[in-house]
Amino acid sequence: MKFIYKYDKLIIISLTLALGWLLSTTNALNSLVAEPTIGYEFKVDGEVWFVLESKDEIHRMLQVYKNSYLKNIDSEAQIRSISFKQEIEINEIEIKDQVLASVKEAEAMINENEVEAEYYTVVSGDSFWAIANKSKIPLAKLIEYNPEMNPERIWPGNKIMFRPADPKLDVTVTFQNTLLEPVEFETQYIQDSSLYASQRVTVKNGVEGEMYVTYDITMVNGYPTEVKVLNEEVIKEPVTRVVRVGTKRTLTRISRTNFGVVVGNLTSGFGYRRDPISGVRKFHNGIDIAAPRGTPVYAYTNGKVVTAGWGNMTGNYVVIDHGGGLRTKYLHLSSISVSVGQSVKVGQKIGGVGSTGYSTGNHLHFEVTKNGVAVNPLLYL
Ligand SMILES: [Zn+2]
Repeated sequence: MKFIYKYDKLIIISLTLALGWLLSTTNALNSLVAEPTIGYEFKVDGEVWFVLESKDEIHRMLQVYKNSYLKNIDSEAQIRSISFKQEIEINEIEIKDQVLASVKEAEAMINENEVEAEYYTVVSGDSFWAIANKSKIPLAKLIEYNPEMNPERIWPGNKIMFRPADPKLDVTVTFQNTLLEPVEFETQYIQDSSLYASQRVTVKNGVEGEMYVTYDITMVNGYPTEVKVLNEEVIKEPVTRVVRVGTKRTLTRISRTNFGVVVGNLTSGFGYRRDPISGVRKFHNGIDIAAPRGTPVYAYTNGKVVTAGWGNMTGNYVVIDHGGGLRTKYLHLSSISVSVGQSVKVGQKIGGVGSTGYSTGNHLHFEVTKNGVAVNPLLYL
C-alpha cells in the first residue's frame, strides 16, 4: 500500500507537471489567436497601396509629402488648406496574409509619379522666347515651370522643365497672400490754346499710390490653377498727373516782334515794293523779318518737307507742304535742320536765319502759297 501510495504520488506529480506544460502551451496558443498583430492599410480611392505597422508613420509621411508642395509659397502667406484630390483612408486591420511594407517602400509609393517631368536641354543660340516658340509652350508657362531660372540668362546644358511631373497623389493647396502694390496715377489733360498741338507741358507730376492686394490662390501639385483678387485696400491715394495739351494748329503772331515762325522785325511786307538792291519796283511775294544769324526758324504747322536745299536766289531754303493746297517757304537760311520727305510738327525748328542767296542782311523771307498762288503771310500768322 505504501508503495502504491508512493507510486500514486509520483503519478500525480507527473500528471500535474504534464498538465502545467499543457496549460502553458495552450495559453501561448490562445494568446496567438486572441491578440493578433495589428497593422494599418493605406487606401487611395478604395485601392490598398500598402500596409504599415505604424499609423503615426503614415501620418508623418503624408505630412512631409504635403509640405513639399509648400516650399515655393511665400512664407508670409496664410495657408487655408492642404488636401489630396484622391480619397485617402487609413484603416486598422488584423494582419493575416498581408505583407507589411517597410517605411522606405511606403514613402516611395506615396512619392510616385504617374507621368514623370519632361525636360529640355538648352543648346547654343537658344533663348526662352525661341524655346517657347519651338515647343509651342506659352512663354509664361515656361517661366512658371522654371521659377529658379532667369529667362535672360540661359546657357547650353541648362535643363528647362517643359512639363511638371504628374504625381499619383495630387495635392491641392489653397492660401491667401497680401502684397503691397502700387496704384497707378491718372492723367488729367487740360486743353491749352496758347500751345501748339504738338506741345505738352506737365503742370503736376503724377505719383503712384499704394494698396494692399489680397489674393486667393489655389495650387495643384505646386502650380497655380486659380488666382483671384479677394480684396484691395488703398492705403495711399495716387496723385493725378496734370498736363496741358496744346490745341493750336498753326503758329501765330504773338507780338510785334514774335511772328511765330521767327522772332525779329518786319522789314518788308507783302505786295509791291522797291527792291532794295536794284531799286526796281516789283512784287514781293512774302514778308521779310530781320533777325540775327542763327535765330531759330519754326515750321508754321504740321507738314512734310518737299524742298530742303540751295537756290542761287533763295540761298538755303525749305518748302513745307501742309496739305489742302497750303505750302510755306523759308528763304536765305544760314542752316537747314530738316531733309526732304521728313514730316515736321508745328513749331518744330527747321533751320536758322541767314543771309544766303539774293539778300542784303540776315533775315527770313517767309512765303505762303495757296494752290500755288502767293498770299499775304500776315493773314496766316
Ligand atoms: Zn523777301
